[in-house]
Amino acid sequence: MSVAPRAFGLSKSRITYFEQCPKRLWLSVHRPELAETDEGAEARFAIGHEVGAAACSLLPGGVMVEAKPDLSAALATTKALLESGHEDPIFEATFQHDGVLVRVDILEPNGIGGWHMAEVKSSTKPKDYHVNDLATQVWVAREAGVPIESAAIRHLDTDFVLEGDGSLDGLFFDSDLTSNIKDRVETRAEVVAAARETLAGEEPSILPGSHCDGLPCNFAAYCEGALPPGPQWPVTVLPYGGGNHWLRRGVEDLFEIDPTMLTNPTHQRVYKATITGEPDHSIEGARSAMADWRFPRTWLDFETIAFAIPRWVGTRPYQQVPFQFSAHVEAEDGSLQHHEFLSLDGADPRRACAEALVTMIPSSGAVVAYNAGFEKARLRELCEFFPDLADDLNSIIDRVVDLLPVTRANWYHRDQRGSWSIKAVLPTVAPDLDYTELEVKDGGNAQAAYLEAISPTTTDDRRAALDVALRTYCGRDTEAMIVLARHLTQN
Ligand code: SF4
Repeated sequence: MSVAPRAFGLSKSRITYFEQCPKRLWLSVHRPELAETDEGAEARFAIGHEVGAAACSLLPGGVMVEAKPDLSAALATTKALLESGHEDPIFEATFQHDGVLVRVDILEPNGIGGWHMAEVKSSTKPKDYHVNDLATQVWVAREAGVPIESAAIRHLDTDFVLEGDGSLDGLFFDSDLTSNIKDRVETRAEVVAAARETLAGEEPSILPGSHCDGLPCNFAAYCEGALPPGPQWPVTVLPYGGGNHWLRRGVEDLFEIDPTMLTNPTHQRVYKATITGEPDHSIEGARSAMADWRFPRTWLDFETIAFAIPRWVGTRPYQQVPFQFSAHVEAEDGSLQHHEFLSLDGADPRRACAEALVTMIPSSGAVVAYNAGFEKARLRELCEFFPDLADDLNSIIDRVVDLLPVTRANWYHRDQRGSWSIKAVLPTVAPDLDYTELEVKDGGNAQAAYLEAISPTTTDDRRAALDVALRTYCGRDTEAMIVLARHLTQN
């Protein structure tokens, strides 16, 4: 391939790709058809758009630079605004330098003749790649003649609590990165030149590694497919990073390690179960751990939704709000009663959820969750928000016990591949109880189903179908816990 490097126009995103991995930039330009479909892209875009609009709404008097009919118009509008002495915020100001075109989320006059640049993100803190992004924006704007005196990532502030409908003052926090980006701004010209050299050359020969992790790369399947097949049981099945010790010594296959060097008891169990193919199972250990779990036992699981921009008074950005729970109540004779709660009307579900909890969960007996810290945290939040229900909710919190550590201590099947998530454990104890035929298969699906159900554009028939799918999924989760607990304690 012989293309003059200067022929390649670059965007901020492509420069970020290059800084992560030159091969990613090259593939994104020359072999885009190799990229995997990014299933979450649409949802992330929608959240980014909503957050960006909220940031603009907090700056009355700001002017939006439209890219209509094209980006040339945006460049011309930006130039005209700045030359006219515009003294209010500008949204999507557009600049070009050295073939790099950028659109700046927000430019604010700093009152002393310069400008403050803010890049709006839906995250709750700046990420590493945001710093390079910001440096590129500042470099282009300054080279285009705009006095950028300070620059920040404007992200959501997790301390913000919605106090009234639509009152978003204080939703954002500026992490000022002016000094952090100074050196990177100064070297942008070299970075851009190196990116163009990469694009003008052959496909870079770069193997997957830690550089693939920071920013999810949609060429992972292509790059990993080019590697020779790895061992069936890699050392990375040793949990808690136990495989890293061996990888640093060039050992990839669990079957090739020296087991006498394993000092962590969990690593020893995982090793033995993997080598022998025999599950590690302590029935006595599980029975002993659950001996104090009094009947009636309530097997409890929440499904939650978290909005970047809080919708309900008293909630924070990304607060996990329960919109559903399933509770199987098990009597000492093994008989079961199923209770459930689901709110799909789009209103704040917390009061109804809290009332359902205190009504449906018996006033005595253990309340069992899997990874119970999550359920306990949601219960505590409800408790704080509804003090009139605090006594009953605290009684539930006091009785919560956790099936996860019991499972972790008393069961391991090599097909779990180092994980004790319920979705990893369940197929090893109850292969028939699988989720593959369900419409809602995991927590992410449940959140997507909730959002679809509360959308005003969803038909009644579709909402009814989603209602059934969500109830089936959440009920399956508590049923799964009971099946697992019985498996752990029975021969
Ligand atoms: S998967 Fe890794 S090595 Fe391959 S292009 Fe992406 S970042 Fe580069």
